[in-house]
Amino acid sequence: MSIPTILTIKEMRQLVWRWKSDDKRVGFVPTMGALHSGHLKLVEHLSEHCEKVVVSIFVNPLQFGPNEDFSRYPRTLPDDLRLLETVKADAVFCPNSSEIYPKGFQTIVSNKELSGRLCGQFRPGHFDGVLTVVNKLFQAVSPNFAAFGKKDFQQFKMIQRMVTDFCMPIEVLGMETIREQDGLALSSRNRYLSSEQREQAPLIFAGLNDAKKAWKAGEKTTAKLTEIFQLSVSKCNEMKIQYCDIVDSENLNPLDGIIEEGIAPVMIVAVVYNDVRLIDNLELGV
Ligand code: AMP
Repeated sequence: MSIPTILTIKEMRQLVWRWKSDDKRVGFVPTMGALHSGHLKLVEHLSEHCEKVVVSIFVNPLQFGPNEDFSRYPRTLPDDLRLLETVKADAVFCPNSSEIYPKGFQTIVSNKELSGRLCGQFRPGHFDGVLTVVNKLFQAVSPNFAAFGKKDFQQFKMIQRMVTDFCMPIEVLGMETIREQDGLALSSRNRYLSSEQREQAPLIFAGLNDAKKAWKAGEKTTAKLTEIFQLSVSKCNEMKIQYCDIVDSENLNPLDGIIEEGIAPVMIVAVVYNDVRLIDNLELGV
């Protein structure tokens, strides 16, 4: 049987209301589609926590900057629906833009501190767009649980923050990054890579891994650890590091100098490879 595809907030709410009145717990995975095994893992994981799982597919215009890839972002709905059947998702919410942003829409969710850090320095307005749409999707689905990938570590932490700050009755779960065998983090944007770029892209994870090995071997100086990452990426001339920061994984506070005992650091990076921007991160102490 094919998965019900829901187009409106009203229908979505009715379905969830029926499930909840039948004592079913609802899990939710927001996505922008072009699904891969990383997305599917989130669905599978949620199925262990709840009886019903909703996946949304919405390429959110509000989180793309004017010169970003909104128009070329891959849209592969028929394939996505087939993949979601393999993991037995219970409903797919595919609203169109005017359902989410009706005429006159003007209320934005914004994080005062974290929006401007890490990716936020290079993508102004991006996280306002993310928080606003996730807030709106949460209103439509009213999930008990929501799963996010740590591949987008900053996004995951900012959503946890929003849920706490707004007292939303939702448990936010963070899932480990799913990678190709050679270490490249799965991403819908990997489709943009040429075969040569695809061959070189694992240098990013290799650099993160080298830094983690050094951390485990006792290197605690942020400059040394970032140098180790830079060394790996410098093997490919066309790859430019947009940023490589080490932050406290609890609160994304920047770490500089010698990392104190008791802090769990995460190295977060963005690399621009010709016109493709790739992000990744690794929790050094885990
Ligand atoms: P996106 O469709 O890129 O907006 O991603 C939807 C969700 O899937 C987000 O919570 C992402 O963090 C998560 N995700 C994307 N790629 C991966 C991956 N390689 N491993 C785990 N989660 C992922």
